[in-house]
Order: sequence, then C-alpha cells, then structure tokens
Amino acid sequence: MTGKTHIAIGTAAALYLLPAAGVRVEPLMLAGAVLGSLLPDIEHPKAMVNSKILPIKSKSMLVIMSAAAGILLILGGLADKSLLKQLIGVYILIAGQSSHRTFTHSLLGLSSIVYISYQLSVYRGFQGFAAGLAVGTALHILADSFTSGGVSLLYPLYNKRIGFPIAMKTGGLTERVIFIISLIVAVISIMSF
Ligand SMILES: [Zn+2]
Repeated sequence: MTGKTHIAIGTAAALYLLPAAGVRVEPLMLAGAVLGSLLPDIEHPKAMVNSKILPIKSKSMLVIMSAAAGILLILGGLADKSLLKQLIGVYILIAGQSSHRTFTHSLLGLSSIVYISYQLSVYRGFQGFAAGLAVGTALHILADSFTSGGVSLLYPLYNKRIGFPIAMKTGGLTERVIFIISLIVAVISIMSF
C-alpha cells in the first residue's frame, strides 16, 4: 500500500472518529494523523517517511542512522530526565533494526506509540497531535493487515504474518477505490462539523 493511501485512510479515520471522542479538529491533529499513517513504515528504507531523511536508501544506512538517532535521543532523555525522549529513542532504535512489518506493525509497536501519545498528551499538552498520531498508526497497521503480505501483529511472540488479505496490488484498482472512499469520508466528516 502506498504512503499516499495510508495518509488518506489515517486522516479520514482521525476526522471521522476523533471529534466524537471530544478531540478538536486542528492542524496539529491532522499533522499527527499524517505522521502516524506513515510511521510504521519507518523500518523500510524506501518508505515515504524515509524519503527525505536517508541520504542513501538502503537498509544498512537506515540501521546506522536509526541507531545513531535512537541512542542520541536516549542519552539526551537520560540527561534531561525526559521519559518521552527516551521512549521515542527506543522506538526509533528498535524500528530501524527490525525487519519489514514486524515490530512497527505489531501490537507491541502500536502500544509503544499509544504510550508515547499518552505522554505527549498528558505531560506536553499536545492532545490533538497525540490523538492523531495514535489513530494514524493504528489505521496503518489495520490497512496493511488487509494486504496480501499481512503483518506480524503478535511479534515477537509469534513472527508469522497475520491478515485478512483481499486481492490488492500496490497502487492497483482496489487501492485507488480505498483512496477515493477515504477522501469522501474525510470530506463528509469535515462538512459535518
Ligand atoms: Zn506498513
């Protein structure tokens, strides 16, 4: 599934679900949803989320850069006594080393992002951004579970990919239909505010 489709699904879900939960629609909420929609693919060197960051789009470059960024954040977090920085550092460190659709596409990875979102919301005041981030990440994992590859949802306890595959080619007709439906849901949600 392309990054564009993930963004459409994640932002549509955030616009549809979050106002009902009392979250105000604001640019930061949408920014969180876009980031969450792309974040689980951080372990893939050619993913949209890495396209502007990696100087060379190879897994070894990703492993080195994510290790450096993760360790710097963990050390910075220990120096500042910031649990949030340490958590983000650990997530980036593990994500960069892991295989495609394992840690970041698992319940463990999702729980990590939900906990980071909780920290952002309760201790930093970014409620909208945090809610968007959690919904975007959850919808990314759900959407990938409908692709033929599936996701390692129970990683590291059970490494086999799990899913409800429907015949869907990346960028194919089914994906384009899902993209258009997501846009319609987003527009209807915005109009109903
Ligand atoms: Zn993915």
